[in-house]
Amino acid sequence: MKEWDELRDADLARAVLGSIHRRAGKIRRPINLMEVCGTHTVAISRNGLRQVMPPNLRLLSGPGCPVCVTDQRDIDAAVCLAEIPGVILATFGDMIRVPGSNRRLPGCGAAGNPGEPGSLGEARAAGRDVRVVYSPLDALAIAEANQDKTVIFYAVGFETTAPMVAATIEEAAARGMENFRVFSVHKLVPPALESILSGGEVAIDGFICPGHVSVVIGLGAYRAVAEKYHVPAVVGGFEAVDILQTVDMLLAQVEAGEARVENQYRRVVTAEGNRSAQELVGKFFHPVDSAWRGLGVIPDSGLALREEFSQFHAERFEPAVETLRQLKNSPPSRMNGCACGDVLKGLVSPTQCRLFGATCTPVSPVGPCMVSTEGACAAYYKYERQMAGGR
Ligand code: SF4
Repeated sequence: MKEWDELRDADLARAVLGSIHRRAGKIRRPINLMEVCGTHTVAISRNGLRQVMPPNLRLLSGPGCPVCVTDQRDIDAAVCLAEIPGVILATFGDMIRVPGSNRRLPGCGAAGNPGEPGSLGEARAAGRDVRVVYSPLDALAIAEANQDKTVIFYAVGFETTAPMVAATIEEAAARGMENFRVFSVHKLVPPALESILSGGEVAIDGFICPGHVSVVIGLGAYRAVAEKYHVPAVVGGFEAVDILQTVDMLLAQVEAGEARVENQYRRVVTAEGNRSAQELVGKFFHPVDSAWRGLGVIPDSGLALREEFSQFHAERFEPAVETLRQLKNSPPSRMNGCACGDVLKGLVSPTQCRLFGATCTPVSPVGPCMVSTEGACAAYYKYERQMAGGR
């Protein structure tokens, strides 16, 4: 845990923490605040903020890690795509290690074990061409260098990643490339917040809204959270003092019985967001219903390529069409004993999973929440494990 004296603005942090304790003392009931950004999750754990909160205030980790919220069927689908002869599957590093569900699917198998999709890493070890990239443009460069292959970019991420992918498709179209496709499992944050609130499984008193996503979408995107569900939403930055101020702003609203969208991260986030990025995404993608791990199918919470760009759509790639259709219509599978879906809804903390730190560790992850560096289980394991009895 970081020593408080090392924090930037340590005196300010202490003052804000005092305010948090005074407000929580006056509210006198359990208060649940949820962060919905993996970077916030890591910052809260790394700075030991959970441990200095008042006893009646819980900081819950929500669906803020894109690797973690990707539906298991989409993990299996990517492995199936990598199985197709002549395909190079390119994606971000964390996705390689997410375990597959080992369901039997006709025409799809990995790791030399026909019909049982493992992880992309296992598929690569079995000889499939799976490559880690740092940007979608890297995937485009691979396509250009391998004209006899089809490169499929497995696009995982939130509103922050989508503009980069849209720009890459624009570039691919400009170059007339025919061997580049995108398997889009992008997710949109505001519909997930509404899904958590309408589901009612956990009482949320306020959302710590994601700073990076909000740079793109702006403050207005959270209006429904405040107006329809009467839940305060504050966009926060990522330093310890930013997060403390965000918590204090949320508590001020809870104390006053108000629900507004506010902006703690004013040095970066604006009311309208990044219009150019929004227009770029809107040109290539449109919102679609999307399946989330733990949350199920949420209306208009994903992004699919527009019809006029269907030549870049992995789901229109003839060798993959039938397998992807079957996967999409198959029931969701639950990983053995993994409670990641409940962690993402704030129903349980990572340390309440019976596999945490025992069979599930960052070296040998059972579920995606332990794979991703932004996953709640990985953050708890790295920074907060001792608080749970050293498991
Ligand atoms: S500790 Fe591992 S098995 Fe448990 S919820 Fe987290 S990722 Fe899943």
